[in-house]
Amino acid sequence: MDAGFTAEPREILVRAPNWAGDVVMATPGLRALRAGFSKARIRVVIRRELAPLLAGSPRVDEVIPLRSDRAGLVARLREAQSLRSRRFDLGLCLPDSFSSALSMRVAGARRIVGYDRNARRLLLDQAVLLPRGGEGGRVMLPRELHVLGLVEAVGCPSLGTGLELFVTQDEERACTQRLAACGIDADAPLALLAPGASFGPSKLWPAERFALVGEALAAAGAHVLVVGAPAEGPLARRVVNAMKAPAHDLTGDLGLGGLKALVRRSRVLVCNDAGARHVAAAFGVACVMLLGPTSLEKTSLNLERVRVLTAEVACRPCYLRTCPIDHRCMTWIAPERAIEAALPALAGRAVA
Ligand code: SF4
Repeated sequence: MDAGFTAEPREILVRAPNWAGDVVMATPGLRALRAGFSKARIRVVIRRELAPLLAGSPRVDEVIPLRSDRAGLVARLREAQSLRSRRFDLGLCLPDSFSSALSMRVAGARRIVGYDRNARRLLLDQAVLLPRGGEGGRVMLPRELHVLGLVEAVGCPSLGTGLELFVTQDEERACTQRLAACGIDADAPLALLAPGASFGPSKLWPAERFALVGEALAAAGAHVLVVGAPAEGPLARRVVNAMKAPAHDLTGDLGLGGLKALVRRSRVLVCNDAGARHVAAAFGVACVMLLGPTSLEKTSLNLERVRVLTAEVACRPCYLRTCPIDHRCMTWIAPERAIEAALPALAGRAVA
């Protein structure tokens, strides 16, 4: 245990990351925290729409959905203040933002731990240094190791970097009912297309190409389902409408809880670089990922069942949300490559 603790903390507050993929990549850290502080009550405060990702996890005693995550700072601090009565012994700030550390301070955690970033050293009781690389630059850690670094700093050793998600009975039931409404048997082979990405249009492979992959998967015997956030409904409908084979648009129907259950029983997921791919990795489901303007620098772990398709273009990775040129990093990825990568997974063979 870290020398800063005189006793094992009994009440722990964890501020979760703000993106779905980052939450999934934080699960090795939660596993280590649970094992290290087995008698503590671990509560995770998280953006409301992401809360189902942690539902059913035995690593967490309570998931506290944020009501005010889209509101202003004052509303968020007021909500943090409402947690003071819980008397947290330890607050673990997984996001590196100033506001997350400030909220933790307002929530009254006695010992606040986070990375020494974004001018928040005075808000932290234990400011953990990020490893530094050559020429004084920061090392870009995979997100799993980023979180594990904090957890290890409070005295909980890593138990490995494998991702884990859990599905509740309610989530499983909702998934079964939704599939039944589509006329799909519980044990039918499923192929998922996730054509969205909240980052921005630069990450999107064209909808018509997802449709071509969907047609090939349907011709091979799969039931094709298009998944995504409610806001991605129009994009999903473009995919479904472009397909000659039948497909079902489930965007917004299931939420992240239902998505977990659906991904877990699927044979393959075809997607952009977005949160769904991490859900597939957590369940060991084969994934074909179209990777354009970003890189795998922070997401280089847990790729054993992921086939990453890229185009050899000089401008990537650019990390721009909107492409200033002709979007060649995505449009140069031919649909035949994705079809060739995805089809073996339907028969249970590796995609990578
Ligand atoms: S600038 Fe290049 S890498 Fe960036 S989005 Fe456009 S084509 Fe892709």
